[in-house]
Amino acid sequence: MTITGGCRCGAVRYELAIDAVPPAYACHCLQCQTWSGSAFSEQLLLREDQVSVTGPVVRYDLTTEDRTSQQRMCGICHTRLYNTNTRRPGIAVIRAGTLDDSHLIDVAAHIWVKRKQPWLALPEGAQAWPESAPPAELAAALGLG
Ligand SMILES: [Zn+2]
Ligand SMILES: [Zn+2]
Repeated sequence: MTITGGCRCGAVRYELAIDAVPPAYACHCLQCQTWSGSAFSEQLLLREDQVSVTGPVVRYDLTTEDRTSQQRMCGICHTRLYNTNTRRPGIAVIRAGTLDDSHLIDVAAHIWVKRKQPWLALPEGAQAWPESAPPAELAAALGLG
């Protein structure tokens, strides 16, 4: 099985070297709301070498404090597809809604729920943190390492 996705206009396509869609997490922080124009961002964590991209990708680097977030997007329609971050080298954060099979996504963890929009009720027993989760706890919630 190959997991595929891409941008809105179709110029950029990607393949993920994984057998099934892994659990995702939702980030409800204000930056993710601003960047997605939605209530939260939905993300998958993969190794960068598991991501193969074709098409006119452009990169936007946003440096805050001690880190640089390196955002990859379609150079034509500007859909944001994934990012890397200098604080976590080798890890790709996929914008999960860009998967072709986004209906298969299971959101297993929620972070920054103190900024969650009030109309949104999380499922009973959902794993959630008021701000960012400690990396080891988030990895465990997503069934990684
Ligand atoms: Zn595009
Ligand atoms: Zn966020």
